[in-house]
Amino acid sequence: MTRKESLKIASSRQKVTVPYPTMPINEFFASNVFNKQKMREYLPEEIFNSLINSIEKGEAIDYSIAQHVAAGMKNWALSKNATHYTHWFQPLTGSTAEKHDSFFHLSPDGQALETFSGSSLVQQEPDASSFPSGGIRNTFEARGYTAWDTSSPAFIYESPAGNTLCIPTIFISYTGESLDYKSPLLKSLIAVEKAAVDVCNYFDKSITKVYPTLGIEQEYFLVDDAIFNARPDLMMCGRSVYGSSPARGQQLDDHYFGSIPERVQAYMIDFEQESHKLGIPLKTRHNEVAPGQFECAPLFEEMNLAVDHNLLLMDVMERVSKRHKFRVLFHEKPFSGINGSGKHNNWSLSTNTGKNLLSPGKTPKNNLMFLTFFVNVIKAYHNHADLMRATIASAGNDYRLGANEAPPAIMSAFIGKQLSEVLDAIEHSKVDVAEGKEINLSKIGIPKIPEILLDNTDRNRTSPFAFTGNKFEFRAVGSSANPAAPMATLNAAVAEQLIAFKAEMDERMGNGESRDVAVLSILARYISESKNIIFEGNGYGDEWVELAKQRGLNNIKNTPDALDGMVTEKALKLFETTKIYTERELHARHEIQLEIFTKKIQIESRLMEDLALNQIVPTVLNYQNLLVKTVNGQKEIGISKAVLQPQIALIEKIANHLSDVLTNVDAMVNARKKANLIDDVKEKAVAYSSDVKGNYFDKIRLHVDKLELIVDDKLWPLAKYRELMFIK
Ligand code: ADP
Ligand code: MG
Repeated sequence: MTRKESLKIASSRQKVTVPYPTMPINEFFASNVFNKQKMREYLPEEIFNSLINSIEKGEAIDYSIAQHVAAGMKNWALSKNATHYTHWFQPLTGSTAEKHDSFFHLSPDGQALETFSGSSLVQQEPDASSFPSGGIRNTFEARGYTAWDTSSPAFIYESPAGNTLCIPTIFISYTGESLDYKSPLLKSLIAVEKAAVDVCNYFDKSITKVYPTLGIEQEYFLVDDAIFNARPDLMMCGRSVYGSSPARGQQLDDHYFGSIPERVQAYMIDFEQESHKLGIPLKTRHNEVAPGQFECAPLFEEMNLAVDHNLLLMDVMERVSKRHKFRVLFHEKPFSGINGSGKHNNWSLSTNTGKNLLSPGKTPKNNLMFLTFFVNVIKAYHNHADLMRATIASAGNDYRLGANEAPPAIMSAFIGKQLSEVLDAIEHSKVDVAEGKEINLSKIGIPKIPEILLDNTDRNRTSPFAFTGNKFEFRAVGSSANPAAPMATLNAAVAEQLIAFKAEMDERMGNGESRDVAVLSILARYISESKNIIFEGNGYGDEWVELAKQRGLNNIKNTPDALDGMVTEKALKLFETTKIYTERELHARHEIQLEIFTKKIQIESRLMEDLALNQIVPTVLNYQNLLVKTVNGQKEIGISKAVLQPQIALIEKIANHLSDVLTNVDAMVNARKKANLIDDVKEKAVAYSSDVKGNYFDKIRLHVDKLELIVDDKLWPLAKYRELMFIK
């Protein structure tokens, strides 16, 4: 579609009317989920009890039971007009995958039957060869298995083309290695649960279960569908490779918490309703900082479910956007010079007794448990800062981190003034501890932690890892990412740290030290070991970059280098002790991430070449030609050279930019050809990152964007930023 056509369509859009639901949310919330209530309704009592038991214990279910569960599930699905079923899984491509099978079967005598066997529920063998495996699946073992994750309920995905029963599954190779995001996440939940329960028991014996909670804020951009279709770069890469950004003016600040355009609001109401039917507890919605940018957030949930729900939400948002003639952009940086999008991961730990372990209690005793977890989390994050950086590395996030209003690539933590003071007091009390004196808890201020820790004025929005009163918020995660990777890593790091803490506690208490003295002595040391990662200032400022360097913190700006953090000895040890990845799995994942990065930059580079040579250059030449003719015509009628000089200068300016575009595109293509000859996966990614992208992307773009400002607006082929971002 041409820019002109697209603008015409976009400017005549009518909003799609979405009536508010006529019934209260609780009447349709989770209506498409095979939850406990539906299980009870559709399963025989004995089967129901047995299934619930397996779910609670996290055990696989028996085939004999699976048969009955499948039958009940099928009956429920048919009652919801489902015609197909699919195993729904999270391959390492980053999106979700599904392969639909029909319930429909023919009996030997030719009768049509609707069947769904226990084995189809529990396990399937999708053709796995098209999913990345990082060399794990050799051709002779090309099979991959999907297996039901009973901790995440089955659901029905509605679509005009027919409803589908979706069964959340893990995806593993024939040899048992994980090929997805879900299975390591589940393993990390087990690791952190065990380690956290053990530590809780120093303080509270009634705690028998601990589970991470996660609330995900999702940022996104909306673009009119027609204009989207007039931007091949958005279509192919999810981001604009060219485009001059409008001057950062008042209109940008006004957008934040400003009123939501009606057409957008209708879209939001629509996808919220669809999400509610799927049991996704969406709660908030608002405008974001940039024009055309928005955010939504659900209530937090148990982590595995929260991750599934985030992926499902993105899918729903994409599908519903089409009804409203929008395109939703989850890319981390769709527009240069404008804020990017993140996915803030709000993380905490909850217990079976209903306690949030990162919520300070009312009594000193409870506060000691809070402080134990609080400091151990900071220590864990400090131990594995480079690994955490690696988990959020992606081609998209490279454009976002450290750019406009986004956390830098430096992994620091923010805890607020009050807690900083508390930690300071603990750290400096270690002298007393060393002398074996009982510590006076009130002296160092533990009982004085106020219940509401952070008011809004004490919030720091510039830190990648911020304590926000009763949870940590990891903000460096990219908006398009599967949150499972960073969350599994955080769980693992915390589990490893809590195990180390327990070992030292046991030793000290075995030597007769009192619990409180042991806890405070250990915490005091942890604080002094990890405090260089705590930063309370402006994380967006240049001073922080300098200060972080002095503190010895890394600031790794590109994905290929950041990914090194995945495969260090330290990372390997972490994942082996917590049983999350084997060495082979870790290396496979590392390789896959590098390959994905290379491919993305390769596509962007090809697109830059294509758009420059096929759209920009011809347009500019036409315009230039027109100018030349005009100037010659003016000369002919006797206008003096002096008067024509500015026009000639303009032609010259265009010629210069044009020449820079052509030369740099040519050089970029050569750099790409050279990079393609490299066999080593890491080296190739580095070549793409520095030689192809680093050397040429900005340079080419600079000249194209300058030309955009000179060339006649009517001729310019690509929809401009102001057209992309302001929604009618
Ligand atoms: P913000 O001020 O950063 O927008 P909100 O209060 O809107 O923060 O919460 C952001 C997210 O944090 C929500 O999804 C919320 O449910 C989640 N959240 C709140 N408490 C917890 C918790 N204990 N564990 C995990 N997530 C939580
Ligand atoms: Mg937030």
